[in-house]
Amino acid sequence: MTTPSLDELVAGVRSGDRAMIGRAITLVESRRPDHEALAQQLLVTLLPHSGGAHRVGISGVPGVGKSTFIEALGCRLVDAGRRVAVLAVDPSSARTRGSILGDKTRMNRLAASSSAFIRPSPTSGTLGGVARRTREALLVCEAAGYDVVLVETVGVGQSETEVAAMTDFFLVLMLAGAGDELQGIKRGILELADALAVTKADGDNVAAARRAKQRYEHALHAMSPTSPNWRPRVLTCSAVTGDGLDEVWGAVTDHRAALAATGELAARRREQARGWLWAIVDDAVRRAVHERAAESGRVAALEEGVMSGDTTPALAAAELLEALGLSSARQ
Ligand code: GDP
Repeated sequence: MTTPSLDELVAGVRSGDRAMIGRAITLVESRRPDHEALAQQLLVTLLPHSGGAHRVGISGVPGVGKSTFIEALGCRLVDAGRRVAVLAVDPSSARTRGSILGDKTRMNRLAASSSAFIRPSPTSGTLGGVARRTREALLVCEAAGYDVVLVETVGVGQSETEVAAMTDFFLVLMLAGAGDELQGIKRGILELADALAVTKADGDNVAAARRAKQRYEHALHAMSPTSPNWRPRVLTCSAVTGDGLDEVWGAVTDHRAALAATGELAARRREQARGWLWAIVDDAVRRAVHERAAESGRVAALEEGVMSGDTTPALAAAELLEALGLSSARQ
């Protein structure tokens, strides 16, 4: 399929044409150098039209109910007149060819709505690369007029930090009754949470969900809040009955109001953009070092030398950086 021109892409995205939005994101995800150049031209043209959405990160272990929750919340928001985009960051998708959202039938009611746009995780590259492409897709969605962008990720490891760094509000979904450690709830993830929602609070599970809520409230109490203007909330909800979904969305909008009023929202987005710049530089330097060092065949020997204690990490790093003409000398 030929790539549309820049003008066609801009016009298509701005008019909210879902096929064109899909093609714009495909372009952004492409690693072909000529595509990358066109993608950046597209993004810089769309940038003035971006920034208008509630950007919400949603995380939780597999089985916690993320896709059911997103479908239920997304449909409510669409019914209330909002336009909802759903994106994903799944670092495992490079291996499994798109596990999160790969199976769109999981959200078929939302996907069928003309006010919703659902896109699986990009499947190429490192977590940094996947996150970068999702962030750029988020900008495309905003320029297309989506006023809610939900970014789903799995509840394990570094991908949470990446998603929290591209969103305004980070929601962690939790199961009642599972051990905390089972859910990968390490301090790091709780510290990112602007709200925790205990899922599947319906039927026989209501009492357990309430107890879990109390436990998490207790745990959060001991932590420093995500912002001086916001105290993280712990809620219960059911995607099946719809109970608690309005409260979850209420937390998002209250948080937005609190941070916008104090200027923190704008400041945070500015900082995120700066962080993004450096993440791209870090990634590129690392990649360049790998490529150059691979040519010289020294990577494995240096890694082994560091692991066995024959040399220091600083000396090995200096040799790798030298290949780029860089010095690792400390300031
Ligand atoms: P994900 O892996 O986090 O995306 O989880 P899913 O959305 O696929 O849900 C996992 C399972 O939990 C499915 O069998 C769902 O039907 C079930 N489930 C999800 N939400 C609810 C809920 O609110 N109540 C109940 N009772 N079951 C739910």
